[in-house]
Amino acid sequence: MASELARIIEKSRRIVFFGGAGVSTESGIPDFRSADGLYSRSTGTRYAPEEVLSHSFFVRHTAEFFDYYRSHLLYPDARPNAAHLALARLEQRGRLTAVITQNIDGLHRRAGSKDVLELHGSVHRNTCVRCGRGFGLDAVLAADGVPTCACGGVIKPDVVLYEEALDPAVMDAAIQALRAADTVIVGGTSLVVYPAAGLLGAFGGDELVLINTAATDHDHLATLVVREPIGEALGAAVP
Ligand code: ZN
Repeated sequence: MASELARIIEKSRRIVFFGGAGVSTESGIPDFRSADGLYSRSTGTRYAPEEVLSHSFFVRHTAEFFDYYRSHLLYPDARPNAAHLALARLEQRGRLTAVITQNIDGLHRRAGSKDVLELHGSVHRNTCVRCGRGFGLDAVLAADGVPTCACGGVIKPDVVLYEEALDPAVMDAAIQALRAADTVIVGGTSLVVYPAAGLLGAFGGDELVLINTAATDHDHLATLVVREPIGEALGAAVP
């Protein structure tokens, strides 16, 4: 018997998926903000993680930033899990119009999704702050200390740091996708991290599905709440 989630997906034509850290934890990437996540751990320095991952820290303590960034935010061996793969299948079948993600690991693209809106950027895109040349993740991983361009400029990850604004073009595309959607599936986020809750306000479609192992403040707004690990739920609903 098809689940309620499978039934909703079956009748939907313009699904948008909105995902948070919980989508990546099943690939072995820790959730920054959860109780046992990165932000509750010491950085091994006298700074808090939120401080190390801020724009001003990047500018003033670039070497320490990259030490922390490389050891805590980069997971080059992580692989897409059942949730990423199910969403890529939905897009290939013409049912899903966009994946909006708060994750920076690039796993949706690696799984084959094409229309991915990365609200907080991606570790796979890096740019020389001086000449604007683009680099992949390898340039950051391979560097000993601060990664630098041939021009001498620092190579900065295209990841939104604290004190930095989200890319307005990505935000706009996310709002357009949500406005045009008939169904939104939210997964792996409690919707408390900016701008998740606000963005969802753009959605005016029929079905709002929340997949999260814990309750969220938005459960009462959902037409369906699924209390299962996201890979399990999506993998079963999108065979
Ligand atoms: Zn350069």
